Amino acid sequence: MKLEPEKCCESGCIPCERDREGEAPFDLENYVNGKFVSHSNEDWLNVLEPATGYRFARVPLSGTDDVDAAVSAARGAQAEWGGLSFGERADWLDKIADALEKKYEEIAALESRDTGKPIALARAVDAYRSVANFRFFAGLIREKSAKPEEHFEMDDATNIVVSNPVGVAALITPWNLPLYLLSWKVAPAIGMGNTVVCKPSELTPMTANLLMETLHEIGLPAGVVNLIHGDGAGAGSPLTSHANVDLVSFTGGTATGAKVAEAAAPQFKKLSLELGGKNASIIFDDCDLEKTVEGVVRASFLNSGQVCLCGSRILIQSGIYDEFVKKFVDAVEGMKIGDPSEDSTELGAIISADHLEKVESYVTLAKEEGGTTLTGGKPCIPNEFEHGYWLAPTVIEGLAPDSRCSTEEIFGPVVTLHKFETEDDAVAIANGTRYGLAGSVWVGDLDKGRRVAENIHTGMVWVNTWLHRDLRVPFGGVKDSGVGREGGRWSLGFFSEAMNICLKHD
Ligand code: NAD
Repeated sequence: MKLEPEKCCESGCIPCERDREGEAPFDLENYVNGKFVSHSNEDWLNVLEPATGYRFARVPLSGTDDVDAAVSAARGAQAEWGGLSFGERADWLDKIADALEKKYEEIAALESRDTGKPIALARAVDAYRSVANFRFFAGLIREKSAKPEEHFEMDDATNIVVSNPVGVAALITPWNLPLYLLSWKVAPAIGMGNTVVCKPSELTPMTANLLMETLHEIGLPAGVVNLIHGDGAGAGSPLTSHANVDLVSFTGGTATGAKVAEAAAPQFKKLSLELGGKNASIIFDDCDLEKTVEGVVRASFLNSGQVCLCGSRILIQSGIYDEFVKKFVDAVEGMKIGDPSEDSTELGAIISADHLEKVESYVTLAKEEGGTTLTGGKPCIPNEFEHGYWLAPTVIEGLAPDSRCSTEEIFGPVVTLHKFETEDDAVAIANGTRYGLAGSVWVGDLDKGRRVAENIHTGMVWVNTWLHRDLRVPFGGVKDSGVGREGGRWSLGFFSEAMNICLKHD
């Protein structure tokens, strides 16, 4: 595949040949065994700026041979890397954090351009967390070096439990938080002595490339971190089914997660799946209304709703329904959409023409399902961005809680509003979806907040806050939102094999 101009025209964007004046697109390369290398075929995919539709890079569409080379490099490097002490590997993680920190602005600018998200968000969330992830796991692994094994005494024996590396890990990530999510996997994986092959989203490959450049600059041993660019069919699928891959950590959509699970299962690979969500924000009559409106607007529209944790269903108790809805819609209409590179912009573009089409199809479906759009629902395109992918933040009411729009993941700037009477009603609506990732409860009475939280079938619930992250706590979902937990010691457990050695006393 070369430039695919027809496909781009069909998708409604400008022809891919239209690059920014004076700016040739940057051709990315894979990173294998400590070297930047070309892929083994002639297939490329254009990387487009979501805000403008301009092409600014080309990403290799790697294939099985490229995956084989990367896995083989990772396998070759594993014994030596796994033989380092926890302290030595923690030092490497700190070096990576230091080097990335110097590129803070570059990370934010690339991420904003690649994803269409506002630069302020890319700084505060993407750049910040990418550095913090390496720093955090350096600290946790250094703590482990102080106590690398556990002992369990019996009357006649001592049990020693050690944490061995699993081996070669495949790390597959989506487009919404590119380096944030990749670093969340790379840091604990290599920290525990594994070597890795990364496969970032083909839509947002730029900061994964920046991470490889950074590792190269600081001289991380060859083969410890490898990267293969490409799409799911060409690169992701051969990676997850590769006989020499021992572990797969996947973050992405639920349908893809099912394929990954199917590929990994016959070889009993260790598997973590962080998948989609349809999270509820539950608002009780006794909440602090001003703070709740502010918090729920953020939970609904951060990154244009393209965060797996976003609260896309808002359940409001009847006593404050009208007042909340008025204030909420006013606040949403006051958000500043526009140029992602401007500091004051609050909402940017949607990731791609295809994804915009999917999100818009739900807005159409909502009408068919009897919903009323209170605001948004149509493109809201800043002047100079007419070839980008834009949708105004959209608020829909009047849908049945079990309608498709209210239960399926939309993953865009679209929320549905639902009125409830009692605590039990709210819990029933919240649990009425196949997803079970996260949720938030907004309430005056914290005992009620905790009680409701405990009854919601998800991996995480915030009370009177949202996305308030402590990196030590477990992260992950239930039902169609995934399998397993990452975060803090859960990541260390997932990226290692606990081994028991039982020494019988004389
Ligand atoms: P996606 O599933 O389309 O792609 C994710 C990654 O998987 C990409 O790198 C893609 O190339 C790769 N891939 C695709 N097919 C594959 C296959 N058959 N085998 C192996 N890899 C394959 O997801 P997306 O559109 O990039 O991301 C959006 C989704 O990610 C949403 O559903 C969102 O909820 C979810 N997400 C979940 C979390 C979480 O922590 N639970 C975080 C962020 C995003």
